[in-house]
Amino acid sequence: VSRFEGITMAPPDPILGVSEAFKADNHELKLNLGVGAYRTEELQPYVLNVVKKADKLLLEKGENREYLPIEGLAAFNKVTAQLLFGADNPVIKQQRVATVQGLSGTGSLRLAAAFIERYFPGAKVLISSPTWGEYRLLAEISCEICSMASLPNCLARNHKNIFNDAGVPWSEYRYYDPKTVGLDFEGMIADIKAAPEGSFILLHGCAHNPTGIDPTPEQWEIIADVIQEKNHVPFFDIAYQGFASGSLDADAASVRMFVARGMEVIAAQSYSKNLGLYAERIGAINVVCSSPEAAARVKSQLKRIARPMYSNPPVHGARIVANIVGDSALFNEWNAEMEMMAGRIKNVRHKLFDSLSSKDKSGKDWSFVLKQIGMFSFTGLNKAQCDNMTNKWHVYMTKDGRISLAGLSLAKCEYLADAIIDSYH
Ligand code: PMP
Repeated sequence: VSRFEGITMAPPDPILGVSEAFKADNHELKLNLGVGAYRTEELQPYVLNVVKKADKLLLEKGENREYLPIEGLAAFNKVTAQLLFGADNPVIKQQRVATVQGLSGTGSLRLAAAFIERYFPGAKVLISSPTWGEYRLLAEISCEICSMASLPNCLARNHKNIFNDAGVPWSEYRYYDPKTVGLDFEGMIADIKAAPEGSFILLHGCAHNPTGIDPTPEQWEIIADVIQEKNHVPFFDIAYQGFASGSLDADAASVRMFVARGMEVIAAQSYSKNLGLYAERIGAINVVCSSPEAAARVKSQLKRIARPMYSNPPVHGARIVANIVGDSALFNEWNAEMEMMAGRIKNVRHKLFDSLSSKDKSGKDWSFVLKQIGMFSFTGLNKAQCDNMTNKWHVYMTKDGRISLAGLSLAKCEYLADAIIDSYH
């Protein structure tokens, strides 16, 4: 008998489940809007030209494959902090940022979670409801996707599981308001206020996943006020910088505003979306401290946590980022490609809104589609309506009503609008 007899089968990953069901469907009009990865108008994966150029340069240079230091590639760490905070930000000149290269956004979040667990025992992390990787129906208790009866055991919630696995307690703050398909700002503020002093408030820097709903600049100021009042620590997850609006600076405005107030800030970055480096696992964790001494100490402890976990990070993605940002021609080309990707998604968003508005005779207000930002749109469709989308219309999506506009083309907007209207009514 196996020593592993007691191991039960883990539920499948919800996104992979959607993709597998999509593959098994032979209908010619089928659409996969589950996947959170950029697709071309022809719905094919996309490698940025600037990444191909950087790859070629790297090959020509023929650099060695020695280990990186625990904290990662120095040239990468330098530019990644500059991209996030702005090259002229005083916190950089004053050496107040502890930056450590991470295994993309997920690994960087996990490193910060381990750091919180070790040095802030008992401190809570507050997470938006809903958040990334969470596909339960908003009104229901159990997860519809992984079919675990109890939410704490549900596997389909990446933010929450990152903190669970690190042993960090968390709770939620209200974020999405189903009545308006918009932000529950009052609920959010009340819940952040009610959290124990010194909590870590996890914020999506831009393009909130899964809702696509971001606070306005005025609302960000009020969020910062409350976090400051309560001595909380803002913890940004910024996985879409430059990919949401097309501008690296505009998408980092929330993070920079908090830093400009003199606040200590944690920020996890990812280059999966904005450089299309999904599989390279390149990102970083940054901790802005009030003194260079504190930053040096924090960095030493982040390294201490990383060393027994994975020793040191991979080099290739770090070199790609450092080379692109370090060369003004490549940097400009990257910005143009980011604008192109963000622009394509915005065009699709507009076309979908126009199609919904012109086809739907019920008088429903579809303007929420335009107000949302980034790769996703939260349609407000419930589980039964999502089932109709898939079973009748061959549109594959997560059952929380989220669709990836990056997986949609202009040519398919009318078809999708028909499917959504049919499912709604
Ligand atoms: N945070 C959020 C909110 C995300 O949407 C994602 C990507 N889906 C990530 C983090 C991290 O992704 P990665 O580990 O590929 O950088």
